[in-house]
Amino acid sequence: MFDTIIVGAGVAGAVAARKLAEEGNRSVLVIERRSHIGGNCYDCPDEYGVLIHEYGPHIFHTDEESVREYLSRFTEWYDFGHEVVANVGDKLIPVPFNLNTLHMVYEKEKADRLEKKLLEEYGEGSRVPIMKLRENADPDIREIAEYVYQNIFLRYTMKQWGQKPEEISPEVTGRVPVVISYDNRYFKDKYQGVPKNGFTPMFEKMLRHKNIEVRLNTDCRELLCFQDGKIYFQDEEFTGDLIYTGAIDELFDCRFGRLPYRSLDFRFEHLDTDSYQGHSVVNYTVSEDFTRITEFKFLTGQTDADGTTIVKEYPFAYTGAKGEIPYYAILEDENQALYEKYRSLTEDYQGFYLLGRLAEYKYYNIDAMALKAMELADRLMKK
Ligand SMILES: Cc1cc2nc3c(=O)[nH]c(=O)nc-3n(C[C@H](O)[C@H](O)[C@H](O)COP(=O)(O)OP(=O)(O)OC[C@H]3O[C@@H](n4cnc5c(N)ncnc54)[C@H](O)[C@@H]3O)c2cc1C
Repeated sequence: MFDTIIVGAGVAGAVAARKLAEEGNRSVLVIERRSHIGGNCYDCPDEYGVLIHEYGPHIFHTDEESVREYLSRFTEWYDFGHEVVANVGDKLIPVPFNLNTLHMVYEKEKADRLEKKLLEEYGEGSRVPIMKLRENADPDIREIAEYVYQNIFLRYTMKQWGQKPEEISPEVTGRVPVVISYDNRYFKDKYQGVPKNGFTPMFEKMLRHKNIEVRLNTDCRELLCFQDGKIYFQDEEFTGDLIYTGAIDELFDCRFGRLPYRSLDFRFEHLDTDSYQGHSVVNYTVSEDFTRITEFKFLTGQTDADGTTIVKEYPFAYTGAKGEIPYYAILEDENQALYEKYRSLTEDYQGFYLLGRLAEYKYYNIDAMALKAMELADRLMKK
């Protein structure tokens, strides 16, 4: 019998498994439904030898020293400042909108004047939500807010969330920032990059431990059963800790209905050219049905493959049909209430822990997820 069972071999499951196996000397079983580890961070070479991220581009970024340090035990890093551009008309402009963008969008004299006003009003280095720019008495400054809303935010958000303009909450709109600096980086974090040899080798090393067994291609519902406050593993009562990182509604047969998610259709293309777009990520904020194109070579730094592979992302509403993957929880009150109904079902079971983006119906970045898993493992080891 295992001391601990973990469902899911993504960031949440893998980090928790390693800590409990190594520091807690527990025997840990990791059950994973897919044919590979790494969850949505999984990467692999495609048939042309280009390293791709199968579930969309993933960049590790963090200010959290403990997470960087922990993951660095399992990988070296290819560090870079991640930059994103938006395709607007005939230009590729840096996003979030910053002073470089300002100078690309407006002619020199006007851009200089606007820059001076922004610096005087808000100060170098600040991130000003467009809601604040809109409240400014100066029509020039309000014009910048309008530009960002129309050309960077509106259509992208409509595609991503399947919303009409009037359905987009003004609170969300208002939070879109304008950055008063020449820094083109998308994230502010101290550490930014990807594991030098890819995410999957990092997870392989993490899960390679004498106290860890990983079972791939196995849905946990084949092995686990929940009944009258007791958990059964292969028909025997299980009294150890169970960490579940899968979708909570599925675990209870969606008895109250499915939790809504946005999903993504990833369409990969290989091209016989060195470079397709010259950037890792180009957002399509005013045209096209897809939201963005990622060109992997520019993300991973790979130089030893011929040609280039890109992926286009088409968002759609998740229905639960076979093959669909729930990606983004839709954080609205009624969905949160539905989640709470499912969560309360777990209270009957001792030693049962929900962890991860699906089990908690929440968006986590990789670093936040790793930190949460580290904290849970620490807590369980103190029990
Ligand atoms: C398109 C996209 C891009 C992203 N980009 C970034 C980024 O650039 N930087 C960043 O920090 N974060 C990014 N994220 C977030 C990142 O993907 C998550 O932080 C991370 O995947 C969460 O890990 P997890 O372990 O909770 O979930 P997952 O990675 O989804 O892992 C859960 C695992 O559980 C398994 N599972 C589920 N149900 C069962 C079952 N019944 N039985 C057995 N196994 C089961 C699944 O197969 C899966 O492998 C992105 C997310 C998306 C959607």
